[in-house]
Amino acid sequence: MKITIHRGAHQIGGCITEIESDNAKILIDLGANLPDSGAKELNEEDVTELTKDVDAIFYTHYHEDHVGLFHLVPETVPQYISKGAQEVMACKYNALKAYGDYNKKLAAISRFRNYEANVPIDIKSKIRVTPYYVSHSAFEAYMFKIEVEGKTLLHTGDFRKHGYIGGKLPDVLQHFVGNVDFLIIEGTMLGRKGEKVIRENDIKQNTIALLKKHKYVFALCSSTDIDRLASFHQACKDENVKRNFVCDTYQKSVLDIFTRYTESSLFKFDHVFIMHKSSIASLDVKAKLSNEGFLMPVRTNQLDLIKEMLEQYDDEPAYLIYSLWQGYYKGTEKQVNPQVIELRELFPGRILDGVYDGFHTSGHADVETLEEACRILRPRLGIIPIHKEALTSYQSLEIAKEFPIIESSEQLDNVEASIR
Ligand SMILES: [Zn+2]
Ligand SMILES: [Zn+2]
Repeated sequence: MKITIHRGAHQIGGCITEIESDNAKILIDLGANLPDSGAKELNEEDVTELTKDVDAIFYTHYHEDHVGLFHLVPETVPQYISKGAQEVMACKYNALKAYGDYNKKLAAISRFRNYEANVPIDIKSKIRVTPYYVSHSAFEAYMFKIEVEGKTLLHTGDFRKHGYIGGKLPDVLQHFVGNVDFLIIEGTMLGRKGEKVIRENDIKQNTIALLKKHKYVFALCSSTDIDRLASFHQACKDENVKRNFVCDTYQKSVLDIFTRYTESSLFKFDHVFIMHKSSIASLDVKAKLSNEGFLMPVRTNQLDLIKEMLEQYDDEPAYLIYSLWQGYYKGTEKQVNPQVIELRELFPGRILDGVYDGFHTSGHADVETLEEACRILRPRLGIIPIHKEALTSYQSLEIAKEFPIIESSEQLDNVEASIR
């Protein structure tokens, strides 16, 4: 068997992992580099070369740093993602069609095959992949148990314990995965050990308190982060709050996918007021919203709409929940997003700011959770860290004394681990 980390061992994002046995080969994720990476991105020719003997590609979830190169994969290579994740991707690119040509991406999305939680898929009777649901800042994120040549690997993808379904993590690891030979695990938070990781439910409580005080609230957040949107939606529904949860038709169609694919009442988005651009100034709408107040999740490309709403709803000052990563407005030159800054400037002195104020939390496991996962899975041959900053290391953790950490290419028990 050969395990190759093509990308991800020394960077966050752009993840590409390859598992090979005899004549069978799979990839886990084929992510694009994050915008601030500075590295040259793979082109169609590179992806064709990389995937030429690949029997299947399995995507852990729909974030760009995990799926970003999917449209460059030749049609003959099967690509697997969950059904719900496929629908969210189709929904996103259908909405983006108004701004450019996304036909190639949409065609590739329509060809995706689907896996289901807990149902193994065999590749040439050599490699068995079983997906398990994990909590992340995305809808339908999975980790994969991979069985090859009598050995077991777990590829965690992006995961955390502090999201709404995160509490199930230890149980899933213990009862469905068990002990493994190799653990390919993310380490995003190794470089942010000091960051306070609050639970999604705390964000909901903080939003309830805010909505009791203020009538008009916008929330800049990811349009596909089911947990965060549930926190805001549930806060609006709280019986002591009763504010309108307002969104545009694109956001509504994403919420409808969440509602259709989940069973928990937490993720039933049934208290939604759709705002059309044409109805912002309508007297009925104004009467309702100025009387009852609202929270509206927004994106950076809705700047004009937000400005118009601020003009129409001006009897009380509006507040902004900034529910994204801080780097977008105060990171390095390459990390900063000018639209984020422009949007923030619409709310001078009226911003509830991300992790500082308890309105944002990481999509990734804190260091204690990373260690807990390692201790449950007891990777006999080693931990292979991915999705982490180059200067951070699992060697700095206590568990480095208990399990081998594989950071460079090694030959172990008939397995070649190649770390690029
Ligand atoms: Zn990621
Ligand atoms: Zn992710």
